[in-house]
Amino acid sequence: MKPFVYSRATEAAAAVRQVSNERSAKFIAGGTNLLDLMKSGVELPDRLVDIARLPLAEITALPQGGVRIGAMARNSTAANHPLVRERYPVLTQAFLAGATGQIRNMASVGGNLMQRTRCPYFYDPAMRCNKREPGSGCSAVEGFNRIHAVLGASEQCIAVHPSDMCVALAALDAVVRVQGPEGEREIPFDDFHRLPGDTPQQDTNLRHGELITAVDLPALPFAKRSHYLKVRDRASYEFALVSVAAVLDVSGGRVRDARVALGGVAHKPWRAREAEKILTGARANEETYRKAAEAALSGARAYKHNTFKIELAKRAIVRALSTAGGSGA
Ligand SMILES: Cc1cc2nc3c(=O)[nH]c(=O)nc-3n(C[C@H](O)[C@H](O)[C@H](O)COP(=O)(O)OP(=O)(O)OC[C@H]3O[C@@H](n4cnc5c(N)ncnc54)[C@H](O)[C@@H]3O)c2cc1C
Repeated sequence: MKPFVYSRATEAAAAVRQVSNERSAKFIAGGTNLLDLMKSGVELPDRLVDIARLPLAEITALPQGGVRIGAMARNSTAANHPLVRERYPVLTQAFLAGATGQIRNMASVGGNLMQRTRCPYFYDPAMRCNKREPGSGCSAVEGFNRIHAVLGASEQCIAVHPSDMCVALAALDAVVRVQGPEGEREIPFDDFHRLPGDTPQQDTNLRHGELITAVDLPALPFAKRSHYLKVRDRASYEFALVSVAAVLDVSGGRVRDARVALGGVAHKPWRAREAEKILTGARANEETYRKAAEAALSGARAYKHNTFKIELAKRAIVRALSTAGGSGA
């Protein structure tokens, strides 16, 4: 591993200053992704600023009925917090579907937002990868692309975002709070992660030196009726082939409101707004859910080894909506 300078921050402002002053400095939180990337030579920071002891781990109720989750809250703590469990079961389920107990105990909410793709070509410096080395090409387009994107990809990059938590946050319209050298700002969740386009090296719209301080979940009373479904090759220690976060407001057999987001299919957590349009106002039954699933995947494009993902995603959407919708009463 390349040598680097390590320092531990005791204040958010000092952490921001230290990282923004040095182009190749990075924050380190739980280290569960960053250290792997450093060991494989994908990330080569000259300085690590440890933010693990910053007072950013609180989970609190917001005045209007929402919840604020501090960026340093561990995934296991956030999953099991009563406010999250009661108000946003889809988020608890998404957290618990991720990684393993040990990793969830280390992984932070901020780090989960910033984790990088699990495309094997990205992790292997011997392979061409536009995300790791812009302009070098994409080995996945012509390679073994079974786990890759079917929505929103570009010829530059067909990697997918690996997070479970982020799929639930996309469905819940979360807001990411950040502190940077120029002050604080809020980023709506849909604007946080990027599609690859011609700049796949940029996963997010976070600027260098900006520190994620918290994630705000707006009040969404009907989120009590929600479900996260993750389909993967084995039951634990595995990333999603396809996942679905479904949140439904059902009354009198009709869908009054709906939120649907997909994981494992795109470079960012994918909000399925076409599906939501079909669902809203329609009868809460399997026929509606199938139409919604067709709409969600209508723009999908498969590569040589991942055609199966399109049908898998449709079936997962129907199942997640059926579970969230319950009896439809
Ligand atoms: C074996 C294994 C299996 C896994 N399986 C899953 C899975 O099934 N589902 C899933 O969702 N995830 C999975 N993960 C990924 C895991 O969730 C992430 O590694 C973890 O969430 C990253 O959090 P961290 O605190 O360890 O981040 P770190 O590794 O410390 O940091 C990751 C990145 O985030 C940046 N960063 C961290 N905190 C902040 C902040 N507050 N502001 C700005 N930047 C920040 C760092 O600079 C770094 O670039 C798995 C990981 C492993 C190792």
